[in-house]
Amino acid sequence: MFQIEFENQEKVVGIDLGTTNSLVAWMNLTKPEVIVGEDGDKLVPSVVSIASDGQIIVGNAARQELIDHPERSIYSVKRLMGRGVEDVQEELKLFPFRIAAGSESVIRVVLGEKTFTPPEVSALILRQLRKNAEEALGATVSKCVITVPAYFNDAQRQATRDAGRIAGLEVLRLVNEPTAAALAYGLDKRKEGIIAVYDLGGGTFDISILKLQDGIFEVLATNGDTHLGGDDIDNRLLRIALEDVKSEWGEDLSASGEAVQTLRRDVIRAKEALSFAPVVTIEFDWHGKAYRREITRELFESLITDIVDRTLGPCRDCMRDAGVTPEQIDEVVLVGGSTRIPMVRSAVEVLFRAKPHTELNPDEVVALGAAVQAGILSGTVENQLLLDVTPLSLGIEMYGGVVSKIIHRNSTIPASAGETFTTGVDGQTNVLIHVVQGERELAKDNRSLARFDLKGIDPMPAGYARVEVRFLIDANGILNVTARDARTGKEQSVDVKPSYGLTDEQVEAMIEASIDHAEDDYNAAQVAGARVDADAILAATDKAKRTDAWVELSDEERQKITDAMNRLQLAYHSDDHHLIQAQIDVLNEVTHALAENMMNTAVRGALKGTHV
Ligand code: ADP
Ligand code: MG
Repeated sequence: MFQIEFENQEKVVGIDLGTTNSLVAWMNLTKPEVIVGEDGDKLVPSVVSIASDGQIIVGNAARQELIDHPERSIYSVKRLMGRGVEDVQEELKLFPFRIAAGSESVIRVVLGEKTFTPPEVSALILRQLRKNAEEALGATVSKCVITVPAYFNDAQRQATRDAGRIAGLEVLRLVNEPTAAALAYGLDKRKEGIIAVYDLGGGTFDISILKLQDGIFEVLATNGDTHLGGDDIDNRLLRIALEDVKSEWGEDLSASGEAVQTLRRDVIRAKEALSFAPVVTIEFDWHGKAYRREITRELFESLITDIVDRTLGPCRDCMRDAGVTPEQIDEVVLVGGSTRIPMVRSAVEVLFRAKPHTELNPDEVVALGAAVQAGILSGTVENQLLLDVTPLSLGIEMYGGVVSKIIHRNSTIPASAGETFTTGVDGQTNVLIHVVQGERELAKDNRSLARFDLKGIDPMPAGYARVEVRFLIDANGILNVTARDARTGKEQSVDVKPSYGLTDEQVEAMIEASIDHAEDDYNAAQVAGARVDADAILAATDKAKRTDAWVELSDEERQKITDAMNRLQLAYHSDDHHLIQAQIDVLNEVTHALAENMMNTAVRGALKGTHV
């Protein structure tokens, strides 16, 4: 006798985390299916708003907020993922992102009264998708596959993983968007061939050429334009409409943000309808006045010819880089909402000399493919994809015993990734690099692969040294770890063979242990992290107590600090990271005056110095 358990069975979902729109899909028995959200839409606009009461709004509702309260909303956050402030200067000229001052290393965007990192904003979108999926499927969703552009680098991929983690999702794998599109069309079944994926979305254009061999996809080349897409087309129509309104109503609306956003919405509506009709009307109603304008497909095509043409150069470059001619391309796949435009379709067909696949909705294919990959990973779909992947995560032990994963489980190899660490103790001149393998949060629970010392770091206060650690796994699965002191350039490296001696059963057991212990581990990692913070603030306060600044405080202030230190020391040994954190906050609060005094003393000292 057997029982089929469908109720509340855990589902792995596939997620397209897009610049303009995001979607979540799942394998419904043998077919991938996009999940409809509570507002009846499959597409969740990648827009996040924060209401004045702090409530977070995502998707269609947030897009409305974007019109009413642009300072409380953010869109296109994907452009900021995994990037530093210096990388995004160009974006900042084109996009009204508000970046918090002093975010040198990590970007923080301002949203109302709060600031968020890009992965945190993306996590809010992921959370919404997760909620939509859980409500539609009536099951817990804690695992997913997320798609990323093929050109995303380590940092951008890592940021995407972080977003998943922040949203409480285990990211089983990141899949390249073009690969996902090919999977959605089942092209992996043909076993061999060259596939071009042409993706024209809202604000970006990507062309990728993939090679399929023995069921494995390899990205041969990518090209594109990070500022080309449907938005450019909208701007053309918007300009015409604004001109019309100016001459018809004698009113220049271009300075009114609200009017422009409303008109933009109406123009987009007309544009999208025009892909299915030979003529449409732009309908804009504004404070009792009505503007109507007919747009024929002919006029539309003359308006966008140069935009469509701008996609062709990158396609030719991409074929050249991939070393293929149009004749060698077996399949062409269209992705992105803007490929619904008939003129785009015919331009692609002419260039590649092949009829592109259009059977699936172009704005859904990536999510559908992600669901197929999710099905493969969860065993719902027969494993057709034999990708070479790392069976377990590889990382190093950090101060406090917590593991920082550098190469994640299921990464395709060859792979390389790196991270920069710092010292935890004042004057530290040696760093022990402890390489571990496994899924658990604490180093002691994982398999130890290698230990080596990076010696001769210049003594500096804790947190100042920069140690760059790089992991490289070659096609044979050999791991090479290099640690380098960024200041002196001193380097140490070792070769380790990660899976040597580990049987498949052991790997399974380690993965299972990590799932069984996920909650314990999470708590242990939080406690370890809180203790590191507690150590730092206790040491700093101790140091401050030996300065003049301490003497300048009132008896009462000194008593408060001493009490707070004692309480933190008590909390330190509890297993409750909330308690430790709360006492850290208290100590932080009561040491404000002390910190200020120290600053003043330092400034006085410096001023004195100038007189010598
Ligand atoms: P992204 O991948 O950038 O998140 P999408 O693939 O969802 O974005 O594409 C969004 C773009 O597609 C928008 O500019 C939207 O107006 C456009 N689009 C959607 N449907 C149509 C249509 N029927 N005709 C023309 N453009 C469309
Ligand atoms: Mg897309």
